[in-house]
Parts: sequence; structure tokens; C-alpha cells
Amino acid sequence: MRFILLGAPGAGKGTQAKQLIDRYKIVQISTGDILRENVKAGTPLGVNARSFMEKGLLVPDDVIISMIEERLSKPDCSNGFILDGFPRTVSQADALGSLLKKMGLKLNACVYVEVPEEDLIKRLSGRRVCNSCGESYHVFFNKPKNEGVCDKCGAGLIHRKDDHEDTVRNRLKVYHNETHPLLDYYTKQNIVLKIDGTGDINDIFKRITAGLEA
Ligand code: AMP
Repeated sequence: MRFILLGAPGAGKGTQAKQLIDRYKIVQISTGDILRENVKAGTPLGVNARSFMEKGLLVPDDVIISMIEERLSKPDCSNGFILDGFPRTVSQADALGSLLKKMGLKLNACVYVEVPEEDLIKRLSGRRVCNSCGESYHVFFNKPKNEGVCDKCGAGLIHRKDDHEDTVRNRLKVYHNETHPLLDYYTKQNIVLKIDGTGDINDIFKRITAGLEA
């Protein structure tokens, strides 16, 4: 199984991906997570990406495309993968198409997770993530057992700089201009599975798996 999770920031792609990888025994490839790891480790890639990320802007396509090319060539991708947060521009989608063609692979689906804009702002500005393992929580909708502490690994939770409200608005603007056109792009390829991304996390998961397995 190889598919894309498409949706605005805050649509719940990362949360769903974490459950979907267990279900299908495949890997999650989140360009945002890879970039954040590089920022944390202070690699040249991270240093370059940081200023874009903190402003809510996209990291340049050439950087992202070579990052994905390297990631997809790793053996753990052989059983399948979920692309979370990639592609984000038409040129990234074109590059992905060429890369998969070269590898003799095809996408099974583009799962589009749809959430109204006012919900996205509420979700993103209340999001807290674990500074160590990356697990995601929310101050209202998905509280950890102990405030400010990750249930999974016990590390501290942080409010990502790019989840602050002004940056959130910027990220949504960028999403509408650059990423939303991919819905048309993949509709033309007949692989879009539209999912209502509102409501309970487990109900959304059931909608996605039912759609993928239909
Ligand atoms: P995310 O966690 O997917 O919301 O990504 C966080 C930030 O990383 C984004 O706001 C961008 O600055 C950057 N980023 C992640 N994925 C991409 C991508 N495919 N293309 C360009 N920038 C990206």
C-alpha cells in the first residue's frame, strides 16, 4: 500500500498516519518530521530549513525532493509507505510521479482529509507535541494524562513555534495557494479518496480504512 495523505496543516494527517502504519505494516514518511529532526540536530539541511519553517513558508522544492528521493530508496519502504506532508506543490507532485515511475511503483490513493478552516485554527493553536518522540496532543481535544508530559515517553511537551496563531494563518494561506491545487491534480489521476476529517479520531480512522479497503 502506497498513498498520500493530503490536507491542510492541522487536518490530522500525522495522527491518522500513526494508526495507519500499524494497520498496514508500512512506514510513515513525514517531510515535516524529517525537517524538524534536522533542525534539532543542527545539520546544514536543518539550518537552511529553519527560517522557512518558523515563518510558515515552504522549504524550497529542490531540498524537499532530494530528501524524499533518499528516503524512498531505503529498504523499509519496500512494503509500502504513507506520504504525510508531501507533496505540497505541483512541482513536488511531478517530481514524485517521475521518481515512482523510475522505481516501477504506483500510488494506490491520495487520501484527502477535509476539515473546515475555523476548526484548523483551533486545532493548530492548541496543539502540543512531544519534544522527544514527536507524539501529538491537544490542550482541549487530546490531553495527555499529566499536563505538559508525554504519555508515551515522559518527555516534555512543547508548543511548536509554527503553531502560534500568526504563523498558523500564514501556513493556511500557503496551503490554499500551493498545496490545495493538488486535489485537482490527483482527481485527474482518479485516485482521490475524500474523507470527512471532523469528529472523533477513531471514526476518521475507520472512514479512511473503509475507503482504502473498499
Ligand atoms: P508539517 O509538520 O508537515 O506541517 O511541516 C512543517 C513545516 O515544514 C512546513 O510549514 C514547511 O515549512 C516545512 N515542510 C514540510 N513538508 C514540506 C514540503 N513537502 N515542502 C516544503 N516545505 C515543507
